[in-house]
Amino acid sequence: MKILYVASEAYPLVKTGGLGDVAGSLPPALQALGHEVRLLLPAYRSVLDRLGAQVHTRTHLGLHDARVRILETELPGTALTVWLVDAPACFDRPGNPYLDAHGQPWPDNAHRFAVLARTAVAIARDRAGLDWTPDLVHTNDWQTGLVPALLSLESERPRQVFTIHNLAYQGLFPAHTFRDLALPPFLESMHALEFHGQLSFIKGGLVFADHLTTVSPTYAREIQTPEYGCGLEGVLQARSAHLSGILNGIDTRTWDPATDPHLPHRYDARSLDLRRRNKAHLQREMGLEVSPRPMLVGMVGRLVEQKGIDVVLEALPRLLQWPLQFVILGSGDPGFERSLSRLAAKHPHRMAVHIGYDEALAHRIEGSADVFLMPSRFEPCGLNQMYSLRYGALPVVRATGGLADTVVDATPEWITARTADGFSFTPPTVEALVHALDRAHCTRRSPKLWQVLQRTGMAQDFSWERSARAYARLYARLLDASPSG
Ligand code: ADP
Repeated sequence: MKILYVASEAYPLVKTGGLGDVAGSLPPALQALGHEVRLLLPAYRSVLDRLGAQVHTRTHLGLHDARVRILETELPGTALTVWLVDAPACFDRPGNPYLDAHGQPWPDNAHRFAVLARTAVAIARDRAGLDWTPDLVHTNDWQTGLVPALLSLESERPRQVFTIHNLAYQGLFPAHTFRDLALPPFLESMHALEFHGQLSFIKGGLVFADHLTTVSPTYAREIQTPEYGCGLEGVLQARSAHLSGILNGIDTRTWDPATDPHLPHRYDARSLDLRRRNKAHLQREMGLEVSPRPMLVGMVGRLVEQKGIDVVLEALPRLLQWPLQFVILGSGDPGFERSLSRLAAKHPHRMAVHIGYDEALAHRIEGSADVFLMPSRFEPCGLNQMYSLRYGALPVVRATGGLADTVVDATPEWITARTADGFSFTPPTVEALVHALDRAHCTRRSPKLWQVLQRTGMAQDFSWERSARAYARLYARLLDASPSG
């Protein structure tokens, strides 16, 4: 199959979150299964700076309000062809792909991602001079939502899959954006892109793609309810026959404790004792008391409400009375950053907070922490709990979305069945979180059981190959089905 995969970020070229990991991993995994895959990304300045001379111009393209160059390169470390949409007015600027230096969305985001979408449509219809037509276009999140909407206007079009990585981000713009972008009036309807008087980019994907996926089966069910649907539950219920969940994989080469260059001491399921040395190293690095005794709790991720940081902050004064240590790495809401840093300053030997993005430290936390805490309010898939399982840092998670699909709670029943590999709780409350950590803390008193849980987690298959096979089956089914017109 020929697949055009469109995303606004892809590791290692550009990544702000889970989407970047998926878009950097799934296309090469599909290619490894024998499919012909092209990845389409914006040519952000940071991407071009990184690639230097490793890009060449494939073609020039005139869109209705922009001229773009399509550059060709390979995704570093793979043989996957990447096409970059070079539109300097849109993408040649410093910093984050979506936000300006003040953390606000770039004011021209609608225009920027409309240019990405129009380029994708031109490629999909073989009007870009690339001499290549995909059988299927796979788009992701609101930044690419206009692609299915615009392709719906074409008489002939490839099959389309749209993946929701996080429904909370919808790409909403004021109503005048319909005209600013010269979108056909037909799209300005509540059955198309209109959402409460605004233009919703994500609705383009939700309404017009042939099939919708989310990144875990549980999240696919959850988003059809008012609690998780972000106001779009009605739209999603209407598409429920064409909505399914496929769990993300993880990059098992980058995230392998046996070969991880970021770890002072590498280990596998047979040498778990070496984790102690990593723990001592991390304690020293972060200025914590160096001791194997306290249960070291790690957290890595965006410090935003979605991740339950407010619940953690409320629970911490209580938890810091226990023999626990916390290492928290992340950035996000300035209020959360400040509160966490203040608490850490008050308890320097018990709690360390590193504000910022630090890939190497994230690896060291996974390779050292006894447990990894993820009390998310919602979690479409979540990658960190899978890294944790693979690294033997037992996850303590709220049972939602992908967390519910990947972590098996250490109840007596699942322990006996030898499937337990972590701890989970359901209400998003301090009580429930504290209780789950308490269970972990008690379980740690039985080192043998603890190792069984670690080894069970480490034996799970979270490879991209497994996910890619599931996507390939879905693509094949869509291509077999008769055209929906
Ligand atoms: P989300 O996509 O909602 O941010 P995920 O758990 O799905 O959450 O993916 C987050 C990815 O970003 C993971 O690979 C995680 O390790 C990484 N990450 C997030 N924040 C940081 C940080 N401050 N430093 C290093 N890695 C981070």
